[in-house]
Amino acid sequence: MTRKKVIAGNWKMHKTVQESAQFVKNLRIKVLETKGVDIILCAPFTSLFHMSELLDEMPVGLGAENMHWADQGAYTGEISAEMLKSAGCEFVILGHSERRQYFGETDETVGKKVSAALNADLKPIVCIGETLEQRNAEQVEEVLTRQLEGAFSDLNVEKMAPVTIAYEPVWAIGTGENATPEQAVEAHQLIRGWLNEHFGDDLGSTTTVLYGGSMKPANAKDLLKNDDIDGGLIGGASLDVDKFAELVSIAEELS
Ligand code: PEP
Repeated sequence: MTRKKVIAGNWKMHKTVQESAQFVKNLRIKVLETKGVDIILCAPFTSLFHMSELLDEMPVGLGAENMHWADQGAYTGEISAEMLKSAGCEFVILGHSERRQYFGETDETVGKKVSAALNADLKPIVCIGETLEQRNAEQVEEVLTRQLEGAFSDLNVEKMAPVTIAYEPVWAIGTGENATPEQAVEAHQLIRGWLNEHFGDDLGSTTTVLYGGSMKPANAKDLLKNDDIDGGLIGGASLDVDKFAELVSIAEELS
């Protein structure tokens, strides 16, 4: 089956409120007519509310980059799903490898956050991926399976419907080195196989599975032309409005 392509930016800890607003204004003219591609911008917490106002009437979804699993409480510095919703978010990235690597995110906390996001009607973009060491030790399947189980084992097929999965090999994130289309397709098929096995046939073919890891205009076509790769979660190249818009055009050509 053919799914709509998705181009999602992950700005990480980049852009002030003013820089985010300027980006959205510059993007407006470039994507106003875009139809065949879902565009998403995931931005720092501080930029979200203002962006949601500027994105009004633009074909661009807004996402955060993390959240806490609790509804509210004494968790200084944290942000809840409801807060993200009230700031205008539709999406939230969960389990990004940088959160796993630097901020103690575990498969268990990712699972709690995925459930909390879904309960609040936020669509999670759940990141999974192996390190280079794990790839070299031929542990890709084992690692991805463990991460999938951690994120989704509490859910049923109905709950899974709004979920997007991003396969992001850690060794390709921010390194300039991307997975080959063959490596990405192999991982995406493994993910779809796991979804079919756990939730039934349809879910593996209906779930959006993105590739992330140094995707840029120069390598996007080779990755995105594969049916199993529904789009990209893009870090570095999403910071530049021209590169981001070019990625949207490449995806549109293929849709
Ligand atoms: C990411 O952070 O999700 C990512 C894929 O980053 P980059 O495109 O810079 O590798």
